[in-house]
Amino acid sequence: MKHSLLVGALSLAGSAIGAQNSPIRPPDSTAITIHAARMFDGRGVKEDVLVTVRAGRIERVEANVGTRGRSATHDLGAATLLPGLIDTHVHPGWYINRRGALHGRDDDTPAQSALARAGNLYVTLMAGFTTIQSLAGPEDLDLRDAVARWQIPGPRILTSIVQISDSSLSVDSLHSLVRALKVRGADVIKLFASAGLGAGGQQTFSDAKLAAICGEAKAQGLRSVVHAISAASVRAATLAGCTEIEHGTFATKAELELMASRGTIFDPQVCLVFQNYIDHRDVYSRSGFTPQSFEALANAIPTATAMFRQAIATPGLKVVFGTDAVALAHGRNADELLCRVRAGQRPTDALISATSAAASALGLGDHVGQIANGYDADLIAVRGDPTREIAAIRDVVFVMRGGVRFAAP
Ligand SMILES: [Zn+2]
Repeated sequence: MKHSLLVGALSLAGSAIGAQNSPIRPPDSTAITIHAARMFDGRGVKEDVLVTVRAGRIERVEANVGTRGRSATHDLGAATLLPGLIDTHVHPGWYINRRGALHGRDDDTPAQSALARAGNLYVTLMAGFTTIQSLAGPEDLDLRDAVARWQIPGPRILTSIVQISDSSLSVDSLHSLVRALKVRGADVIKLFASAGLGAGGQQTFSDAKLAAICGEAKAQGLRSVVHAISAASVRAATLAGCTEIEHGTFATKAELELMASRGTIFDPQVCLVFQNYIDHRDVYSRSGFTPQSFEALANAIPTATAMFRQAIATPGLKVVFGTDAVALAHGRNADELLCRVRAGQRPTDALISATSAAASALGLGDHVGQIANGYDADLIAVRGDPTREIAAIRDVVFVMRGGVRFAAP
């Protein structure tokens, strides 16, 4: 008797939960309207807009709506509406543990790690980033699922699961490794073509191995994203047919032009990743960074800034937005946009690189990165006009991902 009562109660609870078995309520077919004085739609600016959202998608976009804007579900007044921002290079798995050092293997419980990572995703979403590409950690698979199943607030996640960095592996092993990552659910392949910045960034994998990894990725229908610091490693990864080059700190005019002519996507960083390590010297010193590492990081800022200036002046080069955000940089991703504009990029171009251009680079260009009919309802609003004063991008007042509102005034 007791047993059957319990079973009955459980099945009742089950049916009551039914379509609604996640803590965050998924989007439904109710129409939501959003009005703002201004909209950057991922490509250009429109005034006095009214956007209708239904079932997680953008159903209608109207401009110059006049008094009709006042009856919107969310009247955002003088704010600027934008597509949710996209960061093509983050590490949401990186966090600072209870001993004040970078989290390593086995120094926290699985629950402590999961909570810290959920916190990273939350602050990233609240900073206006509705899509991220993690490059990467095995925990990404669970994080990606938890966000997609509306269990925790966070940006949509694309992940490479691991970074391929063992240059001693044979060409055959590299082919199987890429195929195995595809089977495990990787969205992208991440590899290291060079050593790190502190170690000088010399090329690690041979040209033949780079071609094997990026070629196999392509055969599996996956993009390949390559860590390359030195000019030689950027050149080699480009010639190997890889999809996107990360960092490229020491790339010269010749490599930038080569990437442009090959259609290779480029994601350089100007400041946030370097400055974040320097600003948290104590924490990163406890995590294995040496005085030489900090010196290399400080020196990299002017070098990367000059290289970035040349990159945006290179005709036809596709420059996208990615921060390489690690522990303590999560939620500050937009700081990199300010640095890029300070380095000479037009605010509108910086915003395109973090919306429509980034979506295309991730292979999501047909439903993400723009405010247009049929696109996913990933929408943010900021106080002020970031197309004129980029610093406004940090003043986020509205966040919606997939039609679900996470923050509003
Ligand atoms: Zn990285």
